[in-house]
Amino acid sequence: MLVKVLEFFKNLPPKKCVQCGKEIEEQHECYGNTCPDCLNVTCHQ
Ligand SMILES: [Zn+2]
Repeated sequence: MLVKVLEFFKNLPPKKCVQCGKEIEEQHECYGNTCPDCLNVTCHQ
């Protein structure tokens, strides 16, 4: 059963930042498709 759960998560496409392509681990809605790093850069500009 545990293996099946792991395979299930493997099949899920990792959420990637649209700016740098870095995988986003946090799933806060405010991040959207941008990682916190790129989001901070955008906010400062
Ligand atoms: Zn990024």
